[in-house]
Amino acid sequence: MLFPNGAALASEEARSMSQETEEQYRSIFENAVEGIYQTTVDGRYLRVNPALARIYGYDSPADLTDNLTDIAGQLYVDPGKREAFARAMAERDVVQNFEARVFRRDGSIIWITENARCVRDAGGRIRYYEGTVQDITERKRHEEKIRLLATVFESVADGILIVDPDLTVQAVNPAYEVMTNFRRDELLNRPLVLFAPGSHERIFIEDIWRTARSDGRWQGEVTSFRHSGDAFAASLSVNAVRSPGGTLEHYVLTLADISQRKYQEHQIRYQASFDRLTDLPNRWLVCERLEEAILRAQRTRTKVAVAFLDLNRFKQVNDTLGHHAGDDLLKLVAKRLRNCTRVADTVGRLGGDEFLIVAPDAADRASGARLVEKVLYSMGEPFAVHNQELFCGASIGLAFYPDDGETADQLLRNADLAMYHAKRNPEQKYVFYETGMRERSGFTLGLESDLRRAASNGEEFELHFQPKVDTNPRRVIGAEALIRWRHPARGLVSPAEFIPLAEETGLIWEIGAWTLREACGRLSGWLASGLDLASVSVNLSPRQFQDARLVSFVRNVVESTNIPPGRLELELTEGAMIGDIEKAVTILNELKDIGVRLSIDDFGTGYSSLAYLKRFPIDTLKIDRSFVRDIVKSATDPAIVGTIVNLADSLGFDTIAEGVETEEQAEMLRQQRCTRIQGFLISRPLDVVAFERFVAESNVGV
Ligand code: C2E
Ligand code: MG
Ligand code: MG
Repeated sequence: MLFPNGAALASEEARSMSQETEEQYRSIFENAVEGIYQTTVDGRYLRVNPALARIYGYDSPADLTDNLTDIAGQLYVDPGKREAFARAMAERDVVQNFEARVFRRDGSIIWITENARCVRDAGGRIRYYEGTVQDITERKRHEEKIRLLATVFESVADGILIVDPDLTVQAVNPAYEVMTNFRRDELLNRPLVLFAPGSHERIFIEDIWRTARSDGRWQGEVTSFRHSGDAFAASLSVNAVRSPGGTLEHYVLTLADISQRKYQEHQIRYQASFDRLTDLPNRWLVCERLEEAILRAQRTRTKVAVAFLDLNRFKQVNDTLGHHAGDDLLKLVAKRLRNCTRVADTVGRLGGDEFLIVAPDAADRASGARLVEKVLYSMGEPFAVHNQELFCGASIGLAFYPDDGETADQLLRNADLAMYHAKRNPEQKYVFYETGMRERSGFTLGLESDLRRAASNGEEFELHFQPKVDTNPRRVIGAEALIRWRHPARGLVSPAEFIPLAEETGLIWEIGAWTLREACGRLSGWLASGLDLASVSVNLSPRQFQDARLVSFVRNVVESTNIPPGRLELELTEGAMIGDIEKAVTILNELKDIGVRLSIDDFGTGYSSLAYLKRFPIDTLKIDRSFVRDIVKSATDPAIVGTIVNLADSLGFDTIAEGVETEEQAEMLRQQRCTRIQGFLISRPLDVVAFERFVAESNVGV
């Protein structure tokens, strides 16, 4: 009993004793760290000690008793608490560890715990309650945190393991069980086995624990494993938990399964680096490999060969057999390219029908040439696509590090340019890059879309005509129609520049059709107006020649313009006819059947063997201007021209020389019995008006 009733003590001694006791009790009361109180049953304070005033935020005990007059209403955050308190008192006379949230004077809320009892009078009626109060807010917060942590531990997606400093497993959360399929009881109180066997070096693992110990934390990617033994990639963080005194108590390991992410990363990297159709490295990756090869070659002082390959008839396959066939062809090409290159070489697809071969440590240019010859040889075999045998062929441009470029980009561009030259020259299946090629090629980047537009309406094209004359006696025997493209921004674009582009892009059909119609229409007009031109020749490029529509188209134009078919001459290059000779002969015969004349343009520049010339139903051989150019200077060219003329004679062909610029050349040609000439000596190609004037002025009948 804390406050014995002093009045009950009688004697002086007793009084002084009781005073002493009272002092002691008062001191305890005043100095206790716990709050101490007496309250009435209906909830008012009788006495409180300073600690309680402090806990509740009042200045003094008196401040508290004066102002806090309704415990149920003012103190408890939940007023129902007072009722529970009173009920417990009524039933058991005591409450123990009665926890409640209460308002302090300033309105803030704290947690308290109370121990109290009921004080009754002799008749058993309750006189008052007395009790002690402790502020347990700190503890409550801590408990709350623990509960929160426990919830997290139980519910996060990441696996969590808590281990002793000696790495014995103390706790495992459900996510870890789900992730690994290990059951808790298989892990608890056993040594931690986290890493997939053989996946990490010992020093790596030791470093994890050393770092966690010294820095408090380690984080990184590891290979863990599941119950089945399957390894999986995980992101692991290890946190060291120390006591306030600094003793290492636990490690908390958090583990996230990142195998899915890894897989996706791999997929993305794969998709970003490989061509989906052919499974070959794509442009990005092949360039990267080229860069690596360059770095190596720098160290070893070797060469790197870069071969830029473009299929010759891909567009045709796509157009005639459909995209599926085109795709299949590309796959077969990819396979073949891989088969005929070495493991150290990289074959990549740049897009469309373009491929790149990077051959590191090419000893010299000759070995690069051997490589592409091998490639071309294998590309020469037919491809079986959709139950058909397709011949596709390829053009290759070759560039070498360091001769033709220092960077991957330069090498790629130069190999591309060389390929472009190979394309333009059907006889040359591969071409080495040479300096100055770019200037000579008048490179046509950006021209393609313009050409597409021009081809669709024909409005930007015009035909010029270059007279052909016979010098013995001098008379105009015809004219060659030469196309001109008046590009709205670039001005006149040379056919030497855009015809190869038109060939490559397939636009040549439209353009060729326009030329033929225009030339025949013009001839028809001239004939009607009395300008009796013996012939107009029109150039056909190889691709046009091979187009299945050609024969009927020529027939249609001849018929619709109503010209005598013998006045139309078609100029073909040898390149158009190499390859499938039988097919070429058939087409030539069909054309011949229409009644048109045929001539072989640029004769002497191709590889065509003279042997099969006699099988071609040809009317004229047109001697290439390279022979004409050198005929005066060179000792052999006059002889070559002579041979050509003789050969032509014996086969029943006419001959004509093109590119004649000087009287001297004309004279030399005459000596070789070639009297028909075409060239600047007679006239440049002329627009229609100038050409008509030219014919009128030459006024030697036509
Ligand atoms: P090509 O059929 O050999 O035409 C002769 C080329 O030589 C023309 O060049 C002409 O202007 C040029 N030339 C004529 N006389 C001389 C001369 O004395 N000296 C020199 N140095 N050159 C001379 P152009 O018009 O630039 O045509 C170049 C090539 O483009 C033609 O060569 C032909 O292969 C092609 N081409 C021109 N028009 C057409 C066309 O309508 N269709 C097709 N498929 N190709 C065409
Ligand atoms: Mg020509
Ligand atoms: Mg020519």
